[in-house]
Amino acid sequence: APAPPPARHLFSDPAEVEALRGNLLAWYDRCKRDLPWRALAVTEPDADRRGYAVWVSEIMLQQTQVATVIDYYNRWMQKWPTLQALAQASLEEVNELWAGLGYYSRGKRLQEAARKVVSELAGRMPRTAEDLQKLLPGVGRYTAGAIASISYGQATGVVDGNVIRVLCRLRCIGADSSSPAVIDQLWDMANVLVDRSRPGDFNQALMELGATVCVPKAPLCGECPVKQHCQSWRRVEKELAFASQKLFGKPSPVPDVEDCGVGDCPLCPPATEPWDSSLGVTNFPRKAAKKPPRAMRTATCVLERRGCHGASEYLIVQRPSSGLLAGLWEFPSLPLAQDLQEEKEKEELAHHLQAWTGRPVAAKGLQFIGEVIHIFSHIHQTYVVYSLHLDGDVTLDPALSPSRWVTEDEFHASAVSTAMKKVLKAHEKQRRKESSPVKGSKRKREAKAQGAGGT
Ligand code: SF4
Ligand code: ZN
Repeated sequence: APAPPPARHLFSDPAEVEALRGNLLAWYDRCKRDLPWRALAVTEPDADRRGYAVWVSEIMLQQTQVATVIDYYNRWMQKWPTLQALAQASLEEVNELWAGLGYYSRGKRLQEAARKVVSELAGRMPRTAEDLQKLLPGVGRYTAGAIASISYGQATGVVDGNVIRVLCRLRCIGADSSSPAVIDQLWDMANVLVDRSRPGDFNQALMELGATVCVPKAPLCGECPVKQHCQSWRRVEKELAFASQKLFGKPSPVPDVEDCGVGDCPLCPPATEPWDSSLGVTNFPRKAAKKPPRAMRTATCVLERRGCHGASEYLIVQRPSSGLLAGLWEFPSLPLAQDLQEEKEKEELAHHLQAWTGRPVAAKGLQFIGEVIHIFSHIHQTYVVYSLHLDGDVTLDPALSPSRWVTEDEFHASAVSTAMKKVLKAHEKQRRKESSPVKGSKRKREAKAQGAGGT
């Protein structure tokens, strides 16, 4: 077995662990944010519903801010208050409610897992982290630990981004915090630390500390309830004391700010990137450089017609049921090869649109609107936006992917991604410009691209 890590990086003193738990929980009781899923986890007598509610909140909170999640969570729980209700929902309804929250496969997987609990587990949520992870698709180690500790009082730790940051700072862990070896250490640490009588509160307190006090850029160490247990804070304090003594010319010993003293320590910062005094506690955590997102270009066309009441209607089509933005609706779109000439882009899009309109589409009829940029987690997507007005009736071909005409209000109520909302916004902006004529010559493509609301 590998040698245990140096003691400095661990919580090996039971008295210290006890004190840390007490300080953290007392702070949490005083300062915790009032969040709807927290209230329900305490007051709901039905254990399955309690587990379900925590599960929904945890899935929504992955990659999304608390402030955004609250409204989505409330609407979700109102619409599907139980696992049984969610199991009966359609994917379309789930996507509609999820629209705007991002990472759409989360909603889809949540619903698939709910169906499984209802059909294979008689509607009963597994009660331990191990079973939750084993039996529920899409439930990983973190979510399983959160549900089991918060809903069922299992004394099991959790490690998410906030916990990683807090633990790395508490114990001066400067090795790559995304490496499996470090992540394993952090899980062990979280399991040692978790309070045996209030595990759910303890886990939430640790995450809350990371979200509100031990924040990434400017942590509020002065207000931190566990600073006396924090190795990196101590190191900063020692350095400050040393600097001020030096300033007043007092003789003082060189501060003990070495790393843990173990050569090639697997948890200390690498020798090539040692502790940087100017960064203080934000020396930790450290991550290996991220891969840059992949660049993609997609041509998309706002196909517009006059509806029966005179209002504009737009054609939207459904994406395939797997992959990026699975099952969501969008304007007819076509991924483009990089560095394609503008004329060629238009020709390809015109050809693609023919399938939807059932009639020849001339490339020169496509009006360029602008470019809209949207960043997905791993893709830097540029939508090259065109528009086309269609006269007369268009018969939609049922052999193709599902498609439908929608008014603007219907568009916003549909399961469309945030990126497509930006595309429609760019289109509307262009329309407004056209209806209030501006002096000057024809705008250049670049100028339009800038004004198209890219972010
Ligand atoms: Fe984080 Fe500062 Fe508290 Fe340490 S003292 S845990 S760095 S907020
Ligand atoms: Zn070390």
